[in-house]
Amino acid sequence: MAQLDVQAKLAILADAAKYDASCASSGTSSRNSKGGKGVGSTEGMGICHAYAPDGRCISLLKILLTNSCIFDCAYCINRKSSNVRRARFTAEEVVRLTLAFYKRNYIEGLFLSSGIIRSSNYTMEQIVEVARSLREDHDFRGYIHLKTIPDADPELVRQAGIHADRISINVELPTETGLTKLAPEKDAARIESAMRDMKASIADAGDAAKHFKSAPKFAPAGQSTQMIVGADAASDADIVGKASTLYVRFGLRRVYYSAFSPIPDASAVLPLQRPPLMREHRLYQSDWLMRFYGFAPKEVQSAADEHGMLPLDIDPKLALALKFRESFPVDVNRAPKEMLLRVPGLGTKAVERILSSRRWRKLGLDDIARLTLSITKVRPFISTSDWRPTLVTDRADLRMLIAPKQHQLELFAA
Ligand code: SF4
Repeated sequence: MAQLDVQAKLAILADAAKYDASCASSGTSSRNSKGGKGVGSTEGMGICHAYAPDGRCISLLKILLTNSCIFDCAYCINRKSSNVRRARFTAEEVVRLTLAFYKRNYIEGLFLSSGIIRSSNYTMEQIVEVARSLREDHDFRGYIHLKTIPDADPELVRQAGIHADRISINVELPTETGLTKLAPEKDAARIESAMRDMKASIADAGDAAKHFKSAPKFAPAGQSTQMIVGADAASDADIVGKASTLYVRFGLRRVYYSAFSPIPDASAVLPLQRPPLMREHRLYQSDWLMRFYGFAPKEVQSAADEHGMLPLDIDPKLALALKFRESFPVDVNRAPKEMLLRVPGLGTKAVERILSSRRWRKLGLDDIARLTLSITKVRPFISTSDWRPTLVTDRADLRMLIAPKQHQLELFAA
């Protein structure tokens, strides 16, 4: 590998990290450097949050330790057979860069991943060393998200959790068949076993914290994972099913969905085109329905068509309401919370406000209109003290009437 200066390495290794979607920093416990002790903070003024146009968080220094890899996952630009310029940071260089960026207030923390250098264990040792040095040598109190290598020694993965706020272990593909075809060196059982160990360590640390105030923190922002969408034949229903299993079995905080991007010199086993970004968005909406609206995975899956794909033109909650119209209209003055949450256009906050307001008076259509962005979307599915949709809910053209209008994109728009 040619000798490169740090800036050249940064250009290569920050660019190589952009394919990883799982970099949100939500849910960590607060640390700060008040009183002149240590550097960094996970909260407070002056921390720069920025989002790329596609919605991905870029407020962390998001880099790879190296983009060289001894594995050959077909969907990955850093795979062994890829013809890209390679670079590698030392652990010390990453530490220095993180501190320098942090002190300039460019970032709120570090997101570190890596290709596999010599072996899974050697790579994991380097990743842990970065986090250890930041925390122990420099008293760094900013956010650290480490991507771990499931094949590495479980003790090394555990050490990552001691220093990091969040740990990710990527499942990569929703089905075992997809993993075997596109990432033959990876092993679904090893990935799940690493997630299981991480869940146990997080739970042990939680128990210890209940009894001892001084108990050391362990990955306080939990563990997350990422699934690549559209690189294999898995349907949206498959992806929703896999995500719900991961949430239940391994207590994940987040599952991130990353639409597969065609890469230069792509392997012939990959599709030529990326899936529509809207597909990724619909999966995030489905995820939201399961985590915050109490939808069962099977319920979300039933919004999909006969090929298991969610509609792209309407959100999954609206698709479900249109498909199961016999459950509507919902009486906003009497219906239980779980039915209100199933009304398209009513979010969790709107539902809470309906529940608290209706204790004092009957709600009319105007009251609901004030709580929602589009009463047009809500109206066919509710009844109020002064409104019943009568025949509207059953109209054959209801989908056309309330689906968001599609905009023709300009051919020569910048
Ligand atoms: S192990 Fe990671 S970095 Fe290496 S080829 Fe596979 S996905 Fe890419």
